[in-house]
Amino acid sequence: MQFPRKILIIFTSLLFIIGITGCAKKQEKDLFLEIKERGKIIAGVRYDARPFGFIDEDEKVKGFDIDLCREIAYRILGDRDAIEFRQVTSSNRIFAITSGSVDFVAATMSITRKRQQIINFSNPYYIAGQAVMVPKNSAVNTINDLAGKKIIVSLGSTSEKNIRKMFPTAEILGFRTYTDAFSALRTGRGDALTTDDTIIYGFLSENPDYKMLRERLTREPYGFGFKKDVKTLVLRDTINMALKELAQDGTIAKLEQKWLNQTDSNNIEIKATEDNV
Ligand code: GLU
Repeated sequence: MQFPRKILIIFTSLLFIIGITGCAKKQEKDLFLEIKERGKIIAGVRYDARPFGFIDEDEKVKGFDIDLCREIAYRILGDRDAIEFRQVTSSNRIFAITSGSVDFVAATMSITRKRQQIINFSNPYYIAGQAVMVPKNSAVNTINDLAGKKIIVSLGSTSEKNIRKMFPTAEILGFRTYTDAFSALRTGRGDALTTDDTIIYGFLSENPDYKMLRERLTREPYGFGFKKDVKTLVLRDTINMALKELAQDGTIAKLEQKWLNQTDSNNIEIKATEDNV
């Protein structure tokens, strides 16, 4: 049986229109457009890593990453409060990204080649370095003194991987949050805690009985993490543009002054020759 020519033309045109609307619908699902429609951004941030993301006495989440996210919300949605923060840790932040429970993660997260296989990163917005913290009266004064010691880490951090590589026979104690990790150091369950110098500065600011060793084991460039998906590319590119503007207009420098003013950069001995992998 042959279809009349007219019906065939109408049918083909309908298919064409459905195809177009289908494409338009797909386009609408782009994460950046979704955020615009929703009117807020959902960011995964730390609650346990002063001064980047922590819960303050007033029970609000604050820090460098938090302020930076607010600046991005301002640039995308015109409102620094158009952002919802959800807690992530070193070990669950990649899942928060891949499962889509957050739009992106801003959580002291180092850009590494391994992580780049699973998620996308923004351009770097801060460079930290892996360091070691011990009680002031500890006999540990250099990284080499760590041999045979119990070393505390946050599970899923680059510091955990690096220290395991450096001291394959060391006893490593892993915790889900830096709050738990530091409390293990305080109660003597471990001899040293290793993480980024930024996070150690946060602990030192409140706990003067501890010290940070001078050496830095790695270079840790922080980036925002995104789902590896074509739908997130506009958001990532927009955030990269915003980061560039925030660096050029001095906003990032101001945030560094506000949150990270206790550096001892003259006294740092950098051991790392290349970025963390
Ligand atoms: N920046 C390092 C990382 O991405 C260590 C700090 C952290 O646990 O977030 O793993």
